[in-house]
Amino acid sequence: MPELPEVETVVRGLQKTVVGKTIALVHYSAAPAKMITVSNSFNGQDFSTLLRGKQIHSVKRRGKNILISLSGTMTLWVHLKMTGHFFYYNRSTPLDKHDLVLIEFQAPGNSIEPFHLRFNDYRRFGRLRLFRDDELWQQEGLQQLGTEPLEITAEDFVALFRQRQRMIKPALLDQTVIAGLGNIYADESLYAARIHPRKITSRISKKKLIELHGHIQRLLKKAIRLMGTSVDSYTGINGETGKFQKYLLAYHREGESCQRCGATIIREKIGSRSAHYCPRCQRL
Ligand SMILES: [Zn+2]
Repeated sequence: MPELPEVETVVRGLQKTVVGKTIALVHYSAAPAKMITVSNSFNGQDFSTLLRGKQIHSVKRRGKNILISLSGTMTLWVHLKMTGHFFYYNRSTPLDKHDLVLIEFQAPGNSIEPFHLRFNDYRRFGRLRLFRDDELWQQEGLQQLGTEPLEITAEDFVALFRQRQRMIKPALLDQTVIAGLGNIYADESLYAARIHPRKITSRISKKKLIELHGHIQRLLKKAIRLMGTSVDSYTGINGETGKFQKYLLAYHREGESCQRCGATIIREKIGSRSAHYCPRCQRL
């Protein structure tokens, strides 16, 4: 699943390509009904009708969410979930059967821009939801979002985790605690800080939590610089893969040797998710 660095890469790609453009047409007949949501406050108007003629003002990220602000005080809230992708392609590029939503842009002289935006999602868990700006932050999934990991100070990070009595790995994945981490960067950060993923947060020393905070920020920034991790289907909006997978030390390395101590990296279910860690360097 795309995590903070991958979503940030997509957002930066969209900022460079579609901000300022005006939507001419939206095709979404291939999308499953649950993929597209239009707020009730639009009185039954169709997704495509509402978007037509709207200008894209900005594209921002909050946690793993993409927020596309449009003229007409509305926002298109997108979550890529498992395999959602935005592609900014030439219209002549052959369509893929998983290109489920197409957004065309106006060009001067009442014509269509040669490049358009595709929302492609082969597992179809991705979501595109249209809300009025004034109701957006009341929505479940946005309202409860925790702090941004690149914005929180070390002191606040320590306080946030020391007050909790739960295993650190599920706590890092909980978007209402801290928003944007997933399995990749949680496993890599815990490995870097030598913290066992089952360690109870309130029992982790202040010093260790400060180290963990530093590693989370360092790894996220490095991954953004390298345009994300492509271990599954993730790519940027031009179809380019990320490069952080070359630097993974724990995630997806089960059965391989720990680069610090030589022990075998293991993969184990913790909470409902798998965790990758070194049983020798990351002791309980
Ligand atoms: Zn080790």
